Amino acid sequence: MIYLNGEFVAYQDAKISAFDRGCLFGDGVYEVIPVYSRRPFRLAEHVTRLEASLAAIGLDNPHPADEWIRLIEAVIAQQTFDDQSVYLHVTRGAAGYRDFPFPQPTQPTVLIFSTELVTPDAAQKAAGVRALSHADFRWLRCDIKSLNLLPTVLMREHARRAGCTEVVLFRDGWLSEGAASNIFVVKDGVVLAPPKSQLMLPGITYDLVLELCVAHGVAHAVRPIAEPEVREADELWMTSSTKEILPIVELDGQAVGAGRPGPLAAQLDTLYQDFKARIMRQ
Ligand code: PMP
Repeated sequence: MIYLNGEFVAYQDAKISAFDRGCLFGDGVYEVIPVYSRRPFRLAEHVTRLEASLAAIGLDNPHPADEWIRLIEAVIAQQTFDDQSVYLHVTRGAAGYRDFPFPQPTQPTVLIFSTELVTPDAAQKAAGVRALSHADFRWLRCDIKSLNLLPTVLMREHARRAGCTEVVLFRDGWLSEGAASNIFVVKDGVVLAPPKSQLMLPGITYDLVLELCVAHGVAHAVRPIAEPEVREADELWMTSSTKEILPIVELDGQAVGAGRPGPLAAQLDTLYQDFKARIMRQ
């Protein structure tokens, strides 16, 4: 079952207008929320980011936070898997024709469904993944979790064809993020992360990694990171709600550091898994 505009319907019965602006223009925003043992992780943070994305595109929030939480929990309850990935999107709905100005009134489309969450297993974390660098040719509001994902689609396909998992994006010589992840750099025992700006998504995992660094006294700095620093890094990680903390061991065919996952990736992954376990017990 999936949730669509106030109803739970079977997947095959879920119908959206061909004139939905999500379909015609990518005019909407989304969230992906990880669920462990049927409990959504960092749900309040995801709802807050959803509210920020909606506000940024001038789309009235159709539900207050407590209603979003109830809807998401209802979708989780309908699914058979214990670990899930909840996908949620809100579009500016349909008008009876294709026209750019906002429809008056706007009747948003709300879609929520959940699939099995598959996070990297121990073997994948131990092996790490390969990545390619790529020019960040996206727009200048990458802080909005927008449905316009054509750049991501093209970049991830480019990576896949080269046997890689992610692309590491640079804009004007500076690290921004991955196509669908944030990127961390380790140099000389210090965890480095680019500062939040309109050029990257404020990742929920990014925030948690930095919180864990603070809480556990891990040396870190949030500052702009130049491309040569990424190429000379001791460690590189991609982080996201579904990939968690995943080491990148090769960039453009060159080994990152020693060419295998480094000690800080392992330390932060342990802290992350412990944090998750503690939250899930509460
Ligand atoms: N940047 C981009 C462009 C993304 O698509 C994602 C995945 N949502 C992230 C960063 C990581 O964000 P989060 O940790 O909230 O999943």
